[in-house]
Amino acid sequence: MNLSFLVQLTYIVASVLFAFGLKLLASPVSARRGNQLSALGMLLAVIATLAGHHMIGYQWILLGLVIGSALGAFVAVKAAMTQMPEMVALLHGCGALGSVCVDWVHYLKLQHQPVFVIGSVEAFMLFLSIVIGGLTFTGSLIAWGKLSERIPGRPILFPWQQIVNLLLAGGILLSGVLFLLQPARIDFFYIFLTLSFIFGILLVIPIGGADMPVVISVLNSYSGVVACTTGFVINNTLLIVVGALVGANGIILSVIMCKAMNRSLTNVLFGGFGAAKKKSGVGVKKEVHSASVEDAALILEAAHSVVVAPGYGLAVAQAQHAVRELSQELEKNGAEVRYAIHPVAGRMPGHMNVLLAEANIPYDQLVEMEHINPIMDTVDVCIVIGANDTVNPAALNDKSSPIYGMPIIETFRAKTVFVIKRSMAAGFAGIDNELFYNDNTLMIFGDAKDIVQKLAAEFKNK
Ligand code: NDP
Repeated sequence: MNLSFLVQLTYIVASVLFAFGLKLLASPVSARRGNQLSALGMLLAVIATLAGHHMIGYQWILLGLVIGSALGAFVAVKAAMTQMPEMVALLHGCGALGSVCVDWVHYLKLQHQPVFVIGSVEAFMLFLSIVIGGLTFTGSLIAWGKLSERIPGRPILFPWQQIVNLLLAGGILLSGVLFLLQPARIDFFYIFLTLSFIFGILLVIPIGGADMPVVISVLNSYSGVVACTTGFVINNTLLIVVGALVGANGIILSVIMCKAMNRSLTNVLFGGFGAAKKKSGVGVKKEVHSASVEDAALILEAAHSVVVAPGYGLAVAQAQHAVRELSQELEKNGAEVRYAIHPVAGRMPGHMNVLLAEANIPYDQLVEMEHINPIMDTVDVCIVIGANDTVNPAALNDKSSPIYGMPIIETFRAKTVFVIKRSMAAGFAGIDNELFYNDNTLMIFGDAKDIVQKLAAEFKNK
């Protein structure tokens, strides 16, 4: 068995591991195993690639590996759960830059051959790879900056923006065509490389910070496409397969997120949602009913069926462990406790699943929105913890609301609803919530962790 055959065989094994890894990521029960399988696939891929290339300078690769791994581990350990979207943006950006560097080095190597030879498909893929990789890198950096509030999260607009974008796109296309006609001309290469970096910045700055998670998912998809095109450039089948998997997954995820927010992808990318969203869903100021922790504990004591609807505020307050503690007390009291999971609750896909899993809340208590809504009428108490838009009935009955049409957790149909939040402030969409004014809703104002801990303590002391 020669080395090249062994490398290709390992690539196939790694591809299968990636595909199965992705499949397992679809459920919280198997997600951890999916991650491990994919990581194993990556390890095999790296070993096979290094073994298959008779390279000199392994010491540089080792140095890069050590520095990269140390930095990655440090950032991952340090990042709070609420910072995950910005960290993902940064990682995708680095992946795209990595692909650009591989393409760039490949092209420079061709330039240093005694005779410059490049096939037309290879040149076209090189052009695509540099353009998508370049704009993904700078676009991801802007997304990271907006989410981490290092640059303003609001849409940044300037006069003639569309014209400038069109000119940039035209410049990239023109230099690309000239490059394909004369691929040895490195000046054309540098022109579209530079313009792509600028284009990525201009594409993302007009999008509001609040829409960044969807943008990040789209950029994730682009980083997969770049890996795929790089695979064509350097003739690496594993990169082609893995890039295609990431590209397809990223775009599917973006579409799922848009559907759950009842928006189209074009609206997110070009609609300036963050700019025009401060619209009230409730015309007349109404009274809310508030309750103390003691009142709430009394009502909960009589409840047989309790549903927790968690949202972004749960992540901010890091209340997941307190929630598990309260659930256990309720269960000891004979109540059935379930968690209603909205697909876009929080600020990243699966945000609530990850948080609740961190607190070891059993997966079978997590119920998807479409399964919990039909039984909501039978629920005695629904506790909304730090959720707002995902439980706002305006999405169902106010055609003028920006979130009209978005599916929601129909908490208002439960017999009693507790809403735990710090104030009457709006959520992500910037709109009022008529749920708070309903007769069967009791507002419990305060930090989610503090309130839930106090509720659990009330039960313990009974
Ligand atoms: P929202 O962002 O609508 O509301 C969160 C609420 O949490 C706020 O009203 C806030 O009120 C409250 N809150 C914040 N901190 C605390 C705290 N420490 N203790 C108690 N409450 C707190 O959350 P949802 O999860 O309901 O909705 C998510 C929104 O994000 C949707 O509009 C969705 O479309 C959007 N989105 C989601 C993405 C995803 O992938 N998950 C991606 C992009 C957007 P107060 O300040 O009064 O406490």
